[in-house]
Amino acid sequence: MIENTLPEPGHVIEIRRQLRRFVTEKLPRDKRRALDKAHDWPRDLFRQLADMGFCGLTIAEENGGAGQDIVAAVAVIEELARAGPFLAGPFIHCAFYGGMNISENGSPDQKAALLPRLARGDLLFAYGLSEPDVGGDLSSVKTRGRVEGDHLVINGSKRWCTGADWADYIYCLINTAPDASKREALTFVLIPGKAPGVSTHPIEHVNLRYTASSDVIFEDVRVPLDAIVGGPAKLNKGWGMLAGRALDVEKLEVAACTFGFAQAALNEAWTYAQERIQFGKAIAGHQAVAHKLVTARTKLEACRHMLYHAARLANEGAPCGAETSMAKLFIADTGVEIALACQQVMGAYAFSDAYDIDRNVRDLLGMPVVGGSSDMQRNNLAGLWRLKG
Ligand SMILES: Cc1cc2nc3c(=O)[nH]c(=O)nc-3n(C[C@H](O)[C@H](O)[C@H](O)COP(=O)(O)OP(=O)(O)OC[C@H]3O[C@@H](n4cnc5c(N)ncnc54)[C@H](O)[C@@H]3O)c2cc1C
Repeated sequence: MIENTLPEPGHVIEIRRQLRRFVTEKLPRDKRRALDKAHDWPRDLFRQLADMGFCGLTIAEENGGAGQDIVAAVAVIEELARAGPFLAGPFIHCAFYGGMNISENGSPDQKAALLPRLARGDLLFAYGLSEPDVGGDLSSVKTRGRVEGDHLVINGSKRWCTGADWADYIYCLINTAPDASKREALTFVLIPGKAPGVSTHPIEHVNLRYTASSDVIFEDVRVPLDAIVGGPAKLNKGWGMLAGRALDVEKLEVAACTFGFAQAALNEAWTYAQERIQFGKAIAGHQAVAHKLVTARTKLEACRHMLYHAARLANEGAPCGAETSMAKLFIADTGVEIALACQQVMGAYAFSDAYDIDRNVRDLLGMPVVGGSSDMQRNNLAGLWRLKG
C-alpha cells in the first residue's frame, strides 16, 4: 500500500484514517464493480459520509460549514477516489460544485439558503457548462436566457451534464446578452433540475461511470432573477466567475480525483507484480517490470507534491492560478502514463473485470480532457507567464 509521504496536520491524518476504514469496509471490489456496470452511486453511503461532516469542508462556519479547508477537502477526494468515482463524484457535486461555488460567488440570500443544506449533504449540484458545440471555449455558450419582467426564460441545450437527472440544481452558464461582447454576455444561473421545461437524455460513455452524463434540453424554463448566481445584479457578469478562486479549486478537485485513481492503479499493479509468478519468480523480480513500477511511483510522488502545494496556496487564499493549472495539467497527463504502465504490468488481467485496473485506466484516460483539457491548461499557463510569439 502506497502511503502518504507529506507532513500533514493532525486533522487531515485523522480524516484519511476514517475514510480508509470507511471505504475498505463499505465499498469492497464486488460493490465497486456492480456500481460501475450500473453507472450508479451508493446513496446510503453518501448519506453516511455527509453525516460524518465532510461536505462542510468547503463552507465557512458562519454558513453552517466546518470552516473552509481546501487541503482537507482535497484529501477527502483523494481518499474516496482510491475506490473509484462512486463517492468522490457525489462529494464533488455537493462540496465543490455546490459548496465552493456558492461560497465564492453566491449572493447573501443564496449563501443563507443553500450553504447550510450543502454542508449537511442535503443538496447536490450538477455543472451545466459544456454544450453540443462548446467544450473548452466556454465563453461561446449558446444556451440563451431572456429577461422577462423579474424572470429569466431559458432555452438551449447542455451536453455531458453529469448528474443532471438527480441534481437539485444545475449550475449553468448561459448567454444573456447575445449582442454584447463575450465578456459582457455571460450569466451563471441556478436551474432546479426538475423545473418545468428541463429534460435530460443520458449519453453512453466509458469513463466516470458513477452516474449518467446527459444532454439537458431547456425549453422555456422560467427562473426568477434571484436564481442568478450572485443575485440579479450579476446578470451578464458571469465572465468574472469563470476565473477566480472557485475555478482554481475546481482544477484541484479534478487533479485530486486523478491522483486517487492513479494511486489505486499503482497499488493494484504493485501488489499484482509481487504475486504473479512467471519464469519461476514474481514478475516484480523481472527488471523491466520493476522499472515500470518504480518510474510510476516516482511520478505519482511528484503528483502528490504538486497537488498539495497548490492546495495549500488555495487554502491560504494566495494567488495560485498557475500552480493549480500546473497541477491539473501534470497530474492528468501523468495519470495517463501511470495507467498505461500499470496496465502493461497486469497483462491480460488488466482487460478483465477481475481487478479495478480496467476501470481506473478508463477513468484516467479521460482526465486530461475533463475539467479544462491539458491543452487549455497550457494555454492558460502561457498567458499567465506572458509567453509571447
Ligand atoms: C464523463 C464526462 C463527464 C463530463 N461531465 C461534465 C459536466 O458535468 N459538466 C460539463 O459542463 N461538462 C462535462 N464534461 C465535458 C468536459 O468538461 C469537456 O469534455 C471538456 O471541457 C473539453 O471539451 P471537449 O471535449 O468538447 O473538447 P474541445 O474543446 O472540443 O477540444 C477538443 C480537443 O481540442 C483541443 N483544443 C481545443 N481548443 C484548443 C485551443 N485553443 N488550443 C489548444 N488545444 C485546443 C482540446 O485540448 C482537446 O484536446 C464531461 C465530459 C466527460 C467525458
